Amino acid sequence: MNIIIDHNLSSKEDVYCKLSEFTDYRFLYTDGSKTESAVSFAIFDRLLNSGIGYKINSNTSIFTAEAVAILAALKHIKLKNNGHHKWLIVSDSMSVLESMRNNKFNANTNYLISLIKESWLDLLTIHNVKVKFMWVPSHVGVLGNERADFLARAITNSSATVPDSNIVTLLKKRSIDIWKRHWNYKVQIENKGLWYATYNVPIGTFPWFCKSSSYFNRKFYTTILRLRFGHCRLNYHLFRLKIVHSPYCDHCNSQVEQSLSHIFFHCSSFGIQRLVLMDELIEIYGSSNLVPRSIQDLLVNSLTYVPLYKFIHNSVGQI
Ligand SMILES: [Zn+2]
Repeated sequence: MNIIIDHNLSSKEDVYCKLSEFTDYRFLYTDGSKTESAVSFAIFDRLLNSGIGYKINSNTSIFTAEAVAILAALKHIKLKNNGHHKWLIVSDSMSVLESMRNNKFNANTNYLISLIKESWLDLLTIHNVKVKFMWVPSHVGVLGNERADFLARAITNSSATVPDSNIVTLLKKRSIDIWKRHWNYKVQIENKGLWYATYNVPIGTFPWFCKSSSYFNRKFYTTILRLRFGHCRLNYHLFRLKIVHSPYCDHCNSQVEQSLSHIFFHCSSFGIQRLVLMDELIEIYGSSNLVPRSIQDLLVNSLTYVPLYKFIHNSVGQI
């Protein structure tokens, strides 16, 4: 990222002199404002000679307001960049610009800084738009900065406030969206969690055991979790982890891989247990024809969990 912080800038003339180095850039000014009761930010597009201010939650810091302003500026560029491939975002927040310049990433890093970097990279790589950032001192009379400041203050002093509960709702939705995006990336790009993904479409936001209080004990949860993840202590899986020498079933002594599918549907050692399981599944699905013939399809319906657990308990004991 190209972030220009010149500590020698102290007057309006200094700033204009510096800005004159970027005549082929389109200027976008950002500013944040915080009073006792409100926090807001604004962006001002110098070319359009117009801007907009937004009020945000009154508990947020001025740092956050300034960072959100930069993020909003990047969003503005994404929407309005037609024909302009070079933009200069001008901010008077030294702390935000310094955080953006810092490449260390840890738990204390404000997530907005990460979003700013992500958005900047997105503009550069996908939209071919180059964005630079520049610090200017506040209140020295630079027009764009004054306008952004005015807009932010004007909205800070307006009477409408956003209730905290709205922000909580927004944050919840946002974190779920981010998590789902991450999940989809893992499944679709990295091909991870495919077993789990086949029967969790769309992915839920509550764990399966929230739905019922009638389940048994820890062993029950362990068994069902292993079925749901598709990782268990059967030879087929243990062999892949190089824990056992053979992937074959040692219950029926066949040359067949001891997988979940084998145990549930084919292993000749558990015919009686399978009949009991089928009876219980027919009870759930109404008819034998409607009973799914794969573990993943059975796991879609949480009513099958107790019969599946009982089958494991009465056949291999544990998985
Ligand atoms: Zn077997």
